[in-house]
Amino acid sequence: MNGSINSPTPSTPSGPAPAGFHAASCAVWLAGALPLSLAAAWLAVLIEPNFAPLVVFPVLVGLCLGAVLAGWMRLCRMAHRKTALLGVLAAVAVLVGGQHYLAYRHAQSQIDERFAFLQRAQLEMGEVAIAGLPAPPESLVGFLRQTAEQGRPLAGHVVRGAGVWWWWGLEAALTLVGAVVPVWIALRRPFCPRCRTWYRVTRGGSIDRQTAHEIADRCGLPQASSGAAKYRLLGCRAGCALTAFELSWDESTAGSHCVFLDAPRRDEVLRLLERVILDGAISPPAREVGRGGP
Ligand SMILES: [Zn+2]
Repeated sequence: MNGSINSPTPSTPSGPAPAGFHAASCAVWLAGALPLSLAAAWLAVLIEPNFAPLVVFPVLVGLCLGAVLAGWMRLCRMAHRKTALLGVLAAVAVLVGGQHYLAYRHAQSQIDERFAFLQRAQLEMGEVAIAGLPAPPESLVGFLRQTAEQGRPLAGHVVRGAGVWWWWGLEAALTLVGAVVPVWIALRRPFCPRCRTWYRVTRGGSIDRQTAHEIADRCGLPQASSGAAKYRLLGCRAGCALTAFELSWDESTAGSHCVFLDAPRRDEVLRLLERVILDGAISPPAREVGRGGP
C-alpha cells in the first residue's frame, strides 16, 4: 500500500466525518507544541555549526518538527484540521524565532566572556586593549541587524543587508513546508470522531488472485490483470465507525486502493477472507494486529 487513501467508489460510504473541534484535545496539543518547538530550535542551533547544508537543512528541521507534532496529535487524539494547521504555523514561528534568539544569546555570552577575560588581564598585567572589542548587541533585533550587515556566505559570495533578511525568510518558508508535510499526511489518515481514535490495522495478510478479484468486484475497486494481492482492514478502537479496507495488488502498475465498508459489505468481505483461510489457499493466514493505544 502506498499509504494513501484514495477516493472510494460512488457505491460505497465516504468514510467517517471530519473530526470536529474538541477543546480539551486541541488545548493539550497546542500547549505541548510550544515546548516541542523550543526543543527543536535548541537542537537545530546545536547541530547547525556541524551540519547545515544549504536549503536542505531548514527543510529537514521542519520535517523533524512536523513528525514530532504529528505523533503528538496521535497521542492527544487531536485531528481538527484548522487547529493542526494553525498550530504548525505557530510552532514554526516559535522554532524560527527560537533559533535566532538562541543564536543571539550565544553571541552575547561569547562577547561577555571575552570582555570579562580582558578585564581580568587588565587588572593583572596592566594595559590591555579592550577598546577594539565589539559591544554586545543590546536586543535580538539589534543582533539580527548586526548579523545582516556582517553578511552570510552563499555559494562563494557574501550576502549582506536585505539579502540576508530575504534568505532568513526563505529558510522560514522552507521550514514551514517541511513541517506541514508530516502533519498533513497524519490528517489524511481516517479518524473516528465518535470514539476519537485514529484508525489502525485490525487484520491483514495476503490473498490469492481469485479472492482478490472477487473482493475487488464486491467493493467496486479497480482490478489487476494478474497477480495476487495484500489486504488490510482498519477500524477505530471502539469499532463504532465504518471499516476501511485496503487492497494492494502485487502487480505494481495496479497500485493500492482503499474503500470504506458498511456492516453488510464488511461481513461479506470477512466471509470471503474466512473462506480463503479455511481452504488453505494462502500462507500464512491473515494476521490479527493487537488492539489498544490511540
Ligand atoms: Zn469509533
